[in-house]
Amino acid sequence: MNPRLIGFVEAVLIAAILVLIPGYAILRAPSAGTAPGTAADTAALAQIDNVDGERIAKADDTPGDWLSHGRTYSEQRFSPLDQINTSNVNSLGVAWEYRTYSVRGLEATPIVAGGMMFITLPWSKVIALDAKSGKEIWQYDPQVPGETGRYLCCDVVNRGVALWKGAVYVGTLDGRLIKLDAKTGKVLWTVDTVENKKKVYTITGAPRVVDGLVVIGNGGAEYDARGYITAYDADTGKQAWRLYIVPGDPSKPQESEALQTALKTWDTTGKYKFWEIGGGGAPWNSFAFDPELHLLYLGTGNGNPWNREIRSPKGGDNLYLSSVLAVDTRTGKLAWYYQTTPGDTWDFDSTADVVLADLKIDGQMRKVLMHAPKNGFFYVLDRTNGKLISAQKFSIVTWAKGIDPKTGKPIEDPAARYKDKMSVIFPQETGAHNWQPMTFDPQTGLVYIPATDGAAIFVPDADFRYRPGAWNTGVDFAAVSKTVLEMIQSGKPPAAAQGYIKAWDPVAQKEAWQVSMGGSWNSGLLSTAGNLVFGGDAYGMFSAYDAKSGKKIWSMDLKTGILAPAMTYEIDGTQYVALLAGWGGAGGLSAFKDPNTALSKYQTDQGRLFVFKLGGKQQVAALAPEGTPATEPPPQTADAATIEKGFKLYHRTCLVCHGFYAQSEGEVPDLRLAPREIWDQYDSVVLDGALAANGMASFKDVLSKDDVAAIRAYILQQSHLAWDQAHAPKAKPPGKTN
Ligand code: CA
Repeated sequence: MNPRLIGFVEAVLIAAILVLIPGYAILRAPSAGTAPGTAADTAALAQIDNVDGERIAKADDTPGDWLSHGRTYSEQRFSPLDQINTSNVNSLGVAWEYRTYSVRGLEATPIVAGGMMFITLPWSKVIALDAKSGKEIWQYDPQVPGETGRYLCCDVVNRGVALWKGAVYVGTLDGRLIKLDAKTGKVLWTVDTVENKKKVYTITGAPRVVDGLVVIGNGGAEYDARGYITAYDADTGKQAWRLYIVPGDPSKPQESEALQTALKTWDTTGKYKFWEIGGGGAPWNSFAFDPELHLLYLGTGNGNPWNREIRSPKGGDNLYLSSVLAVDTRTGKLAWYYQTTPGDTWDFDSTADVVLADLKIDGQMRKVLMHAPKNGFFYVLDRTNGKLISAQKFSIVTWAKGIDPKTGKPIEDPAARYKDKMSVIFPQETGAHNWQPMTFDPQTGLVYIPATDGAAIFVPDADFRYRPGAWNTGVDFAAVSKTVLEMIQSGKPPAAAQGYIKAWDPVAQKEAWQVSMGGSWNSGLLSTAGNLVFGGDAYGMFSAYDAKSGKKIWSMDLKTGILAPAMTYEIDGTQYVALLAGWGGAGGLSAFKDPNTALSKYQTDQGRLFVFKLGGKQQVAALAPEGTPATEPPPQTADAATIEKGFKLYHRTCLVCHGFYAQSEGEVPDLRLAPREIWDQYDSVVLDGALAANGMASFKDVLSKDDVAAIRAYILQQSHLAWDQAHAPKAKPPGKTN
């Protein structure tokens, strides 16, 4: 059988099913893969088997690989590779592209070792590729139930795998942690990280492996989760320890001394018992690790419900919400904490990435931790003890005037809380900086932050009641929406959020430069020894900037919105830059959809992985909106009578499976969307049964060669109609004259 045909049918089936029933996509079972098998590859594959703590700690010895989420345990996302640099980045082009046939946001950082690349897709799927050629080696679908999608605040995303001793680890939306054989995709073990099935717990983050333990945190603090992280033995999956972020039932002994301390910062006398309706603090994203100190650093999420008046009405800091925690990996005990937003009431997760570095401050080398959470402050902490070194606003911030250097606590604006009135503050709920990772470049000494300025409106929910399995924020979003609508109707719409890349000097605590990214909700960032910073935007532009000056040197329109951070690797002397494109996430789901903007054109597109190299020549084509052909159909050569004959034959013979007017409902390929090659092979498909194995049996007994030509002519006409509709010039936006 023609392999291109199989590819097409699978592709269309995958695409169609992903669109319609996203939870049950990808048809191929995880199979024993076709891992590279040459002698040279065997040596390369050993580089997957030997990934352990020592190799990750010494990642700079093998800079061609990208072994862990933020490349190193320090999560700097800086690569020592410099083949691509300011002098030649202008010739950067696409080496290859891999279509994921996913919809929804792509947020993963590809992991590369031993010539293999591992990416994750929406619904927690894992794909292994040949990192040089882009050839798929295996794929794994954990079969996350589709209904899980209801319990995700921020899209059915996944931010990647961890690699360790020949295995990859992935967390699934429904809370499982799964170990797969890195070479074949075979499941080695599965553990369920959810301890209370009555509550909403999810996983979107990338696991990390530290001191032989796989650590993973859960999401769910918009629902009713009590946040925790869990460490499992990487070999066996046996639980080593679990660290709870917020206290449990106060009538019972707390799980740790740290929680006993934390309990004093919560009001236990409110109408709603926080331990029954959640508490929050879900550590759903950030981890960094100092192997010498054996300290694991993590950022914790917002309070649940958001509104402190409900979960702790008499106030209190509500430890350990919105904090950075240091945990001793050997015991699972809290070593220290620093709370960035005491008594959080604004969804100010502190789950943005945590980045470690050694910086010279006041003439002394300090082991620091850098963190720029949603609340808009840039923190430099001493990572040995959690003491504040400095903190400054890196974005527009109105909820607090500054951070008191003595107490390390914010100086709040009393008007920012919304006890019995509306409040309007900067930053917005999605934060001055969210999960999209920042990067620290030790050559320039600068941190590059994908930042946003935007305001949030909070209105207390006077009719709050706890609803299991639903959002429980304590914010009246109907009232918020009404307020926004009134502002629009009165001709004074709220200002749109503005995204930008900010280069920040963490020692001086001041801006070095910034570039505007137009809209908000843009990509994470990468810096390299080539003096480059790579970043993309929601509109699909992927760019390289001079790390020192911020000057944009190179840019390419990828025609697909970008959220994920780029990464870079080297194979056989060639440096590559890899990037997943596919818009979505919290900002994508809640974005206003304007059919006249480029944003809406790209935001529903299928996902794609781009890999770039110097001199790469592959063209970037726009992906068609759903229900339209990806490539222009071949010219119509049949006459009207033939098309009419085809119309009748089609609806007599083909309709039962392929739908009225050749518009399939999705269980079978939509014939209008066929790429060029399929149009050339109608006879072999319809008469010779070339795709019989896929369910398309031969119709030789009922159709002649002429009949098939007529049917093809009719379907081709339908395909052209769909193509023309998608590519017709768009109407001008109302109210705009040019
Ligand atoms: Ca949150």
